[in-house]
Amino acid sequence: MSGKNEATTDIPNVRLIGVDFDREGKSHGYIGIQHSTTRSCYYWLPVPITCIKNRSGPTVLLISGIHGDEYEGQLALSKLAADLQPVDVTGRVLIVPMANFPAAKAGTRTSPIDGGDLNRLFPGEANGSVTQQIAAYIEHALMAIADFVIDLHSGGSSIMHVAAAIVVAEGDALRFQRQMALAQAFGAPYTIVYASRSQPHFGKIALAASARQGAIAIGAELGGAGSVTSHSLALTEQGLVRVLHKVGVLAKISDASSPMKTRVLSSDRPDTMIWAMEAGLFEPAVIVGNEVRRGDLAGRIHVVDSPGRSSSEYRFDEDGVVTVARFMTQVERGDCLYRIAFGAEHAPGFV
Ligand SMILES: [Zn+2]
Repeated sequence: MSGKNEATTDIPNVRLIGVDFDREGKSHGYIGIQHSTTRSCYYWLPVPITCIKNRSGPTVLLISGIHGDEYEGQLALSKLAADLQPVDVTGRVLIVPMANFPAAKAGTRTSPIDGGDLNRLFPGEANGSVTQQIAAYIEHALMAIADFVIDLHSGGSSIMHVAAAIVVAEGDALRFQRQMALAQAFGAPYTIVYASRSQPHFGKIALAASARQGAIAIGAELGGAGSVTSHSLALTEQGLVRVLHKVGVLAKISDASSPMKTRVLSSDRPDTMIWAMEAGLFEPAVIVGNEVRRGDLAGRIHVVDSPGRSSSEYRFDEDGVVTVARFMTQVERGDCLYRIAFGAEHAPGFV
């Protein structure tokens, strides 16, 4: 291990069931969050967790289901928890496939219990709402003992996201190098580098929480539209294996293909999105991965219940690559239609 702290245990409503982080071998269990309901007054929410430990080495925390309607990570981590054997591991792998368990069960981005978006609630509150308690446990008990964190996402139900590793640069050159090495090993077609200052809610996301706890962390966005494809799932599974190999936890990776050369993009400002300014039906003009130029048509919104009214046009303000595109056709004013990113020369750390 790397001299990190042991897990915090003073989160009063949370207990670890069936898993001991210090036990050699593989154990499956639950992070139990007390949640008293009419149906069950002493109920605890069972957030699944697997711990695989063998010999001495780094601790890697693999998380998905922070948003419940993002499935590549949930599938890949569920398969990994079943298949990965202690004998193949040097160190410790902690797998949490349904981090916001109520949201993952409901297939929703946010918790049906308290409305909590887990990726906006770190560092959480030990005595707060259910989602705040999950955040507190993940940050103070899991990230606190992790050397590396991989946080798997996708576009969820409403958008499609280009397949990408996500690096949030915080101005520390050595950390940035180590994050980029993980992103390159993950081997997605794109790596998107965000400057922490470009994320208004940065301190509240899992990648920020990991950094606070001293772990080297990357995220991944792997598709979206509330579904998976064989391609996006294979990319996720192979990327995880390559990262585990890169950090020294897995010696053998014969099943994984070589990483694709990743194209580094930068999204260093919060104003790279196009939002719908009225309700209607969205007609997209481009898809994720398209290169666009300033002035290109992005799409149209049709107000179908006003017969004869012309559609409104949306155009790109800058040259870039489309990284996010709205998937749902119905739109309201305020919905994000697109997000773009730029070439690597704009990325923090690249000069
Ligand atoms: Zn997400």
